[in-house]
Amino acid sequence: MDDTLASRLASIDERITDAARAAGRGASDITRIVVTKFHPASLVRDLHALGVREVGENRQQELTTKREQTADLADLTWHFIGQAQTNKARAIRATAAAVHTVDRARLADALQRAAVDGDDPLDVLVQINLTDDPGRGGVSPDGIEALAQHILGCDTLRLRGVMAVAPLDEHPAAAFARVAQYAQRVRTLEPAARWISAGMTGDFVEAIAAGATHLRIGSAITGPRPLHG
Ligand SMILES: *Cc1c(COP(=O)(O)O)cnc(C)c1O
Repeated sequence: MDDTLASRLASIDERITDAARAAGRGASDITRIVVTKFHPASLVRDLHALGVREVGENRQQELTTKREQTADLADLTWHFIGQAQTNKARAIRATAAAVHTVDRARLADALQRAAVDGDDPLDVLVQINLTDDPGRGGVSPDGIEALAQHILGCDTLRLRGVMAVAPLDEHPAAAFARVAQYAQRVRTLEPAARWISAGMTGDFVEAIAAGATHLRIGSAITGPRPLHG
């Protein structure tokens, strides 16, 4: 086991607690998801031994493989945080408990159709694009309500809230203030949709100040990602 992994995790958790306190929030309202993409399954094991139970991946194939390699760690919760192709919906649904990146009705439909009898409802978030670049993923803000309504019509999906990535060219506090407003719009349609998935290594403090409930933190905890072929 890598001592530095333990100390990085502890120091991030301390910063999360401090940021929550500064925002007048309880750290228990905040779920810290460790993003393990590009790292081997052994890192997931090390994290599990340190008490981590929420992990995130952004590619379906890597998620499927890693989940198989850690199948004995039954209490892990896997979050899918990458751009999802509709033809991967079945594989994603078979492995992830939550999909943060639903950005179009067709993807919601594919995830809905991928449900197998007896499946738990799948937690899904509306991913919102905070940029003008459609290639970044996410629904544009003017499409939030229509997509949320569509998801509410899918009986095997449970609308949990919103997800966003802060743009590179905007201060994260300003970007996350917008996300908080979008989250409010979704809660008008579904009061139980209280998750705000926002905040990464470089901006989780600002995300907490803006009300984020789910942080997606990778490299600050895992160390730099190995290059991916
Ligand atoms: C990789 C990734 C993260 C984590 O990024 P870090 O900067 O390493 O914390 C968070 N969210 C998404 C969508 C990602 O793809």
